[in-house]
Amino acid sequence: MKKIEHIGIAVKNLETSNSLFEKLLGSAPYKEEEVPTEGVKTSFFRNGPNKIELLEATSTTSPIHQFLENRGEGLHHVAFEVDDIEEEMKRLKAEGFVLLSEKPKKGADNKWVAFIHPKSTNGILVELCQEIK
Ligand code: ZN
Repeated sequence: MKKIEHIGIAVKNLETSNSLFEKLLGSAPYKEEEVPTEGVKTSFFRNGPNKIELLEATSTTSPIHQFLENRGEGLHHVAFEVDDIEEEMKRLKAEGFVLLSEKPKKGADNKWVAFIHPKSTNGILVELCQEIK
């Protein structure tokens, strides 16, 4: 894994949180994007070499909706950048980590993504991401 690419934060209302994080970070989000397959609306902020992703649920079946119900707003996932996501998934599976999908999926911000179940990573949902070229 190369570096932390972004940190994902679950929010109830993207618009409200966009202005909050704009004040916090001193810059507006550079992108807003809906990912219908995941039931989320996202926005991305740059922060030095890293990014902050805000996620709002767009349906009650969204994993973000579930998360907000269970735990409320807050840190949702930590995303690590990788060179070869399929290779990394294989490696982590062999190490005993529980992956949430067999194959990488198309995520927000032009990335292939895969998630590791928080029960195998001390309660933190870990995202692997690889830029789609
Ligand atoms: Zn993410």
